[in-house]
Amino acid sequence: MTEIRICHLYPKEMNIYGDRGNIAVLQKRLEWRGYSSTLTSISIGDEFTPTSFDLCYLGGGQDRDQMIVAYDLQEKSAALHSAAKDGMVFLWVCGGIQLAGVGYTDSEGRRIPGVGILDLDTSAGKSRLIGDLVLNAELNGDSCKVVGYENHVGRTFLGSDATPLGAVLKGHGNNGEDRTEGAVQRRVIGTYMHGPILPKNPWLADKLLSWAIEHKTGKTPTLTPLDNSLENLAQQVAITRAGMKR
Ligand code: GLN
Repeated sequence: MTEIRICHLYPKEMNIYGDRGNIAVLQKRLEWRGYSSTLTSISIGDEFTPTSFDLCYLGGGQDRDQMIVAYDLQEKSAALHSAAKDGMVFLWVCGGIQLAGVGYTDSEGRRIPGVGILDLDTSAGKSRLIGDLVLNAELNGDSCKVVGYENHVGRTFLGSDATPLGAVLKGHGNNGEDRTEGAVQRRVIGTYMHGPILPKNPWLADKLLSWAIEHKTGKTPTLTPLDNSLENLAQQVAITRAGMKR
């Protein structure tokens, strides 16, 4: 049985919006298709070995939480870059997308260094961008509506090496100005979408899983279709709550 190895970075410090739910979705959708998975928590002072994992997850955190983990993340930077270059899948959420970039200047003007696996930079704005978020996401030429919830003061702007995860249909997105949301580079995805994001976005969950299986086996899998009726209903409720028709 193929085993997919998931790493959860700083699960204690960076997990403010039920981000653990994303891990549960990934493991369950693997299990339903006959794959096994392992979950390893990597915290401050632990070694991150780039060849040990297929997917690396980092959840959201307030400025204070980001400051706590940022300097430890710098210690892991070379290994993270090596993993990203080797095609490991990353899903880093909100505070995570900010730490995946070059850095984040917080509301007090303090600079929190990022690791730079995404070509982007973030500075705190004057107000928080909060609310339901609906976007038209695009990955590998395939597109789908993706919904989530955002709550961030950071304004993120992408450099030329990163492409947006999608175009904002409803909500603020990366910076409330350019109608982009998230960032993608190789198999690294950063997004502001909490929720957690994956339970009501099976399309995105399966994209990540296809990439992770390909990273482990070297072959592009054909994932057995699952009954997503509950997930699609949850997405529809979120789209309606955002004030949009399907
Ligand atoms: N501290 C960051 C901001 O407020 C991210 C917050 C979060 O992870 N929700 O922009």
